[in-house]
This record gives sequence, structure tokens and C-alpha cells, in this order.
Amino acid sequence: MFILHCTLFNSFILYRKLNPNIKITFSKFLQTLAEEWIASATEHHDPENLPSSSSTAVGRAPHHDRPYRLSGDIAIHQLERISQSGKSKYPQKRCRVCKTRGKRRDTSYICKLCRVPLCKSHCFSIYHTKQKY
Ligand SMILES: [Zn+2]
Ligand SMILES: [Zn+2]
Repeated sequence: MFILHCTLFNSFILYRKLNPNIKITFSKFLQTLAEEWIASATEHHDPENLPSSSSTAVGRAPHHDRPYRLSGDIAIHQLERISQSGKSKYPQKRCRVCKTRGKRRDTSYICKLCRVPLCKSHCFSIYHTKQKY
């Protein structure tokens, strides 16, 4: 604290030298300094509109296919188990491909990237390789 005080006092001396016309006491100087700090701190730490951190939670599947669905790089798509939600221990959702094809089939996997439920094997690759699935 003493060292900090010295540093502040030194800058106060400097401030007085640089601004000889401004009559300011050391405590007033400290107050001004503190206010500036607070002002700059709040300036730089605006609460940003961060996207809600619910990206891992399985909400409603997106209605439209993601543009990177057919990125050609299937390696960036990964299946993950649908996270447990509420009471169901093994949550399942209707596979997007099967649903489009008029089949009723549930899967407990979704594409981590697309957030779309897909059967573990073939539907997954169909969804990511075929324009029409
Ligand atoms: Zn995907
Ligand atoms: Zn399927």
C-alpha cells in the first residue's frame, strides 16, 4: 500500500508540474484518479450480449439446416448423446432424415454441430453428404 501511495504521490507531483494552473489537492487528485479508473473500467467492461450458454443443452432442433451441413468435411460433425433433460434418463428425438422420409424413428444422438437429431450410422452420413435426404 505504501509503494502504491508513493507511486500515486509521484504522479500527483508530475500532474502538478504538467498542470501548474490547476489547483488540486492530493486527495482531490486521488478522487479524480479513482473516478477516471472507474469510468474506464466500466467503459471497457460493458456487459456484452453474450449468447446464452445453453449450447450444450438440447432445446428444440433448429428448423432449418445449417449452412455447413454439406461442408464436405464430415469430420467436423460429431455425434453426441442427447443430454439428459428432466425426467427421461435416455432422451430420444426423432431422426431428421427418417422424419423427412416419413419414417418414425427415434435416436438418442444428435450432431454436435448442427444440433439435429440423427440415427447413429447411415442417417448421419446421409444428412451430411446428400443435398436431398
Ligand atoms: Zn452436422
Ligand atoms: Zn434416421
